[in-house]
Amino acid sequence: MRAARQGAQRTINAVVRLVAPPNIDAPVATLKVGSANVERLKKLGIKTVGDLLLELPFDWESYGGPTPVARLTVGESATVVGTLGAIRSRRPKVNRTGLKTITESHIVDDAGDELPLVWFNQAFVGQRLKSGDRIAVAGLVRARKYGDPRMSNPHFEILPAGAAAPTGIGGLQPKYHLVKGLTSKKIAQWVAAALPAADHLEDVLPAEIRRRHQLLPVAEAVRNGHQPESPAEYRDARKRMTFAELFELQTAFAMMRAQQASEPAVPIPYVQEVIDTLKVGLGFGLTRAQRQSMWDAFQDMQRVTPMNRLLNGDVGSGKTAVAAACVAMAHAAGMQSVVMAPTEILARQHLAKFRGYLEASFRGLSVELLVSSQSAPERKRVKTSAASGHCALVVGTHALIEDDVQFAQLGLAIVDEQHRFGTRQRELLRAKGRGRPHFMAMTATPIPRTLALALYGEMSVSTIDELPPGRIPVVTEVIPPDERERAYELVRAEVRAGRQAFVIYPLIEESEKSAAKAATAEYERLSKEVFRSPFTVGLVHGRLKEKDAVMQQFVRGQIQILVATAVVEVGVDVPNATVMMIEGADRFGLAQLHQFRGRVGRGAEKSYALLLADDPSKQSLDRLMLVTTITDGFRLAEEDMRIRGMGELMGERQHGLSDLAMRALKEPELVNEIRQEAEELLASDPDLARHPVVARAVERRLAVTSIS
Ligand code: ADP
Ligand code: MG
Repeated sequence: MRAARQGAQRTINAVVRLVAPPNIDAPVATLKVGSANVERLKKLGIKTVGDLLLELPFDWESYGGPTPVARLTVGESATVVGTLGAIRSRRPKVNRTGLKTITESHIVDDAGDELPLVWFNQAFVGQRLKSGDRIAVAGLVRARKYGDPRMSNPHFEILPAGAAAPTGIGGLQPKYHLVKGLTSKKIAQWVAAALPAADHLEDVLPAEIRRRHQLLPVAEAVRNGHQPESPAEYRDARKRMTFAELFELQTAFAMMRAQQASEPAVPIPYVQEVIDTLKVGLGFGLTRAQRQSMWDAFQDMQRVTPMNRLLNGDVGSGKTAVAAACVAMAHAAGMQSVVMAPTEILARQHLAKFRGYLEASFRGLSVELLVSSQSAPERKRVKTSAASGHCALVVGTHALIEDDVQFAQLGLAIVDEQHRFGTRQRELLRAKGRGRPHFMAMTATPIPRTLALALYGEMSVSTIDELPPGRIPVVTEVIPPDERERAYELVRAEVRAGRQAFVIYPLIEESEKSAAKAATAEYERLSKEVFRSPFTVGLVHGRLKEKDAVMQQFVRGQIQILVATAVVEVGVDVPNATVMMIEGADRFGLAQLHQFRGRVGRGAEKSYALLLADDPSKQSLDRLMLVTTITDGFRLAEEDMRIRGMGELMGERQHGLSDLAMRALKEPELVNEIRQEAEELLASDPDLARHPVVARAVERRLAVTSIS
C-alpha cells in the first residue's frame, strides 16, 4: 500500500535517480518508454533523447492551486484537496460507446463541501483509491443535466497526512503534441528523466546572436520550457526555441540562394509579340492574376540569375496557361522547356493542354510526351528529338529524369504539383541542361502568401488568387450520417443523367495500407449493394498497380463511379464528373476538402460536393460548414490554420517545423530579422566551417524540408 502512496513527482524523481543521465543522441528507448511508445514518439518525429527535449509543450493546462468546492466554477479546470468518500466501480447497463467501467466517488474538502467525481474506463482507479484517503484531484468541473456539477476523469494524487497541496498534479500541466496512446503526463515524465542531459545539447545559435536578441542558451530554454516557474519563463524559452528553428531554416535558404546566384542561366528576353500571339490562340481572356504571374516570370527569366519561382494557384485557376506563356517565351529565345508531372495521367492531360495552347499558334513549336509506359521506339524518338533540340517542350513523368534524357538547349524547367516530388528529383530535372535552366514550381496547395514567402524562402512566389470568370460554384453540403442514403440517391440520379461521380475515403491510421483496405471493402459494398449494375464502379488506391489504367477508364467514361483513397492523385480533368462525395470529411483539412471539390464543377453542369462526417459532433460539423460558405481556397487555408494549427495545414511535419515556428512565420518582422542574421553569418563564414553546429542543423533541416 505504501508504494501506491507515492505521488507522481516522487515517481519521476526516483526514475531520475535510478537512471544515469541519458546520452543526448541515444534513442528514446534508453528512457525505458517501452517499444510501443518508441513507435508512437517516432510518429511525432521524436527519435532521440535530444529530440524529446527540444519539443517544448505547445500550451499549458491551468488547474490553479487548491480551491474550496464552494468556489469552483463550472467549465473551468481546478484542483481540489480533501478526503475521498465511498468509491465503487460498476459496469454500465447499456454499452453503446465502448464504455466498460464507471468509477464513482466524491471528495469532501476541509470546509465539508462535497464534489462528485467520476472516472470512465479507468478501472485501476477503484483499486488505487479507497474511502478515507486524503487526496488531491485536478480536472475540469462539468455541469450535469441532473445533480450537482462534477469532475470527470480527474488526475489524482494521494497526499501524505498533513500535506496541503499536491506536487505532481494541479497547478500548471504541460500540453504536448500527441498521437493515439500517448498522454502529456507520460511525455512529461520521460522529459523529466531526460532533462539532466539538457546540458549536452548543442546550441545552434551563436552566442553573439543570442545576446543581440536576448535569447536563452539552449539548455536553459529546454529546462524552463518544460518545467517553468512562471509564464514568463515559458514564454522566453519558447521564443528562443522558435527563433532557433527559423534561424536554421533561413540559413538553409540563404545558402541555397547563394548557390543559385553562382550558377548562371541563359537570359530569356521578353518579346511582346509572343504574348500577343499566345492570347489569340488561347480562346479565352487571361485573368488579372494570370497576367500578373506571367509578368513576374518574364521579368525573372530576363536575368542571368536563374528564375526560381513558385506559382501558387487554386485548382482550376489556370496555372497551365501561365506555364505555357513561359514555354513560348523560351522557345522564342531558342530555348527548350520541360514540364514534369507526378502521374502519367496528369502528364497526358498536360500534353493535350500545352499542345492546344501552343502548337497551332507558334510555327515550329512542337510538344512531346515522355512516360515509362510508351514503347521503346517511341521513347527513343522523343529523346532524340529533345537531344537534337528539335522539340520545344517535353512533358512527362519521372521518366524525364532518367540518365539518358538530354536536352540540347534547356532553358526552362517546370514541375507541377511540386510537393509530390523530392528535392533530389527536382534537382535532377534542373540538371538536364547545360548550365542552369530557369525554374518554376506549380502548386495548388493554397498557402497564404506571407507564409509561402517565409517557407519557401529561397523562391519568389506568384499567387493566382482568382478563378476564370463564369465558373458555376459547386453546391457544397454537409450530410449527417443518418442521411447518407440521400447522398447515394444524388449520385445515382446524376449518373443516370449521364454524368460521373467520385467517392473519396480518408486515410485512417496514417497508413495507406489500411486506407486501401477500407476503400476496397467499401468498393465491394457499393458495387454490390448501393450502386448495383448497370452502374459501373471502379476502385483506385495508392497500392493498386493499374492506377493509371483505372483513371483512364474513368476519364473515358467507362467507369461511372470512382471509389478512391485520398492519396491517389485525382488531379485530373474530368469535366463530366459532377459529384464529389467525401466520406470521413472531418478527417481532412478544409483546404484539402476544397481541393477535392475543385475536381468537379469543371464542365457546364451544376456540380455537388457532399461532405459526410464520421464525427457528428457540433464542433466537427461547424468546421465542415465553413467549406459550404467559403469558396476561396486561401481563406479556407487560413481557417484551417486558425482551427487546427499550421502543422495540420502543411501536412505532417512537411517542413520539419513545429507549430510554434509556423505561427511565428506570420510575423514578417521577426522573419526578416532572422533572415538578416542568417545572411550576415554566411557572409562572414560562407561554408559554415567555423560554425559546425549550424552546418549540421542546416543539413538536417534540408533533409526534412520540402523546398525546391
Ligand atoms: P490549374 O491551375 O488547376 O492547373 P488549368 O490550367 O488546368 O488549372 O485550367 C483549368 C481550366 O480552365 C482549363 O480548362 C483551362 O483551359 C481553363 N482556363 C484557364 N485560364 C482561363 C481563363 N482565363 N479563362 C477561361 N478559362 C480558363
Ligand atoms: Mg494543373
